[in-house]
Amino acid sequence: MEAVQREHEKVWEGCRKAKTIDATQSIIDQLRKARESIASDPASAQITLVKLQAPVKAAFDDMTASLKTTRGGQNNYQKALDKLFRDKPLPSNEIDALSQQSNLINRAVYLHLLREGLFDVASTMQDEASRRATVQRDLQQSNGLDISIEDPIGMDQGLPDGMLDKFQSMHRILDELRLNHNLQPAMEWAQTNSADLQDRGSNLGFELCRLQYARILFEDSQNGFLSMSSMVKAMEYAQSAFQPFQTNYLHEIQELMGAIAFFSNLNQSPYHARLNTTVAWDEVASSFTREFCALLELSADSPLYITSTAGAIALPPLLKLQAIQKQKNASWTSANELPVETPLPSNYQFHSIFVCPVSKEQSTDQNPPMMMPCGHVICQDSLTRLAKGSKFKCPYCPSESSPTQATRIIL
Ligand SMILES: [Zn+2]
Repeated sequence: MEAVQREHEKVWEGCRKAKTIDATQSIIDQLRKARESIASDPASAQITLVKLQAPVKAAFDDMTASLKTTRGGQNNYQKALDKLFRDKPLPSNEIDALSQQSNLINRAVYLHLLREGLFDVASTMQDEASRRATVQRDLQQSNGLDISIEDPIGMDQGLPDGMLDKFQSMHRILDELRLNHNLQPAMEWAQTNSADLQDRGSNLGFELCRLQYARILFEDSQNGFLSMSSMVKAMEYAQSAFQPFQTNYLHEIQELMGAIAFFSNLNQSPYHARLNTTVAWDEVASSFTREFCALLELSADSPLYITSTAGAIALPPLLKLQAIQKQKNASWTSANELPVETPLPSNYQFHSIFVCPVSKEQSTDQNPPMMMPCGHVICQDSLTRLAKGSKFKCPYCPSESSPTQATRIIL
């Protein structure tokens, strides 16, 4: 894997250093200039064209040389990939549930790009996906098929309005936080959304204030010694800014204020860890991202990233299963259920599953888990089968109940 990583970095590095685009631009510029000069003085055409030859050739040579290096890097990368994944076939199309759902995949990629702040790439992708959809539709119409225009990015499938604007403002705030250590825009955002953040039990508002306090306190410090003017400013800031947080964070506020008493050797004081700002910027940035996404009703991590990682973990046992099935000519017919476990780390598990103790089947939306008044839970189908419309005895305890008394369990 390290070899792949190394080659991948080399390809990126190569792309960054590549002169292809600059060389192409230089050719375009020279040709434009020549056209203008010939247009303004047609008599100079011959001499202009002769003069043009050498620099254009040089630019072409630059371009070819640069492309050669890039291609070499790509070949090495391809070789490293082939070496690592040799004898590891990709899953076959027969179980590719997403092959007919290109708009869902486009949408996931588009949203991922927005989240990463790659707005140019996202908009290019949206344009190209729309163009491809139009071409496909025209092709099908010319073949006599009447196809309705499909939404290529799945915009009508629950993308909140103004998603692009929202992510742009999120990245503006994040850039200020990370690059300029400027907390102001994030604080303004937290202030505007304070009611929603409070409903979620978020700590973001306090985290921002705490960091601002530490920033002011250490502003003019030298060799761990705090300056008197910074201390006064930090005290003044604390008096007003910590006011709304007193009920929930009194103990922390007291510790933060207590740190001032150790101004002469704060680094050795027990409060130093509370004011450690080296990791605080990253922590505040990730908590801001989490809260911002949560208010958009999105998860903190990109679903595409989560799905790909979970897929990479779960794929090996599935490939093995496929190979064994082929070898033994066996097939698995149970719908929505697999004969093997695909264990994932706990942070990749988003909901619990329920297996009916009577039928041993996993619950589904059509066959949900139902709790009887005694507290025991079985699936809807088992309940219907046992009850036959009348009162019935729980299979796990002596209590009796009627089907209407059972409550659906949402996991
Ligand atoms: Zn019971």
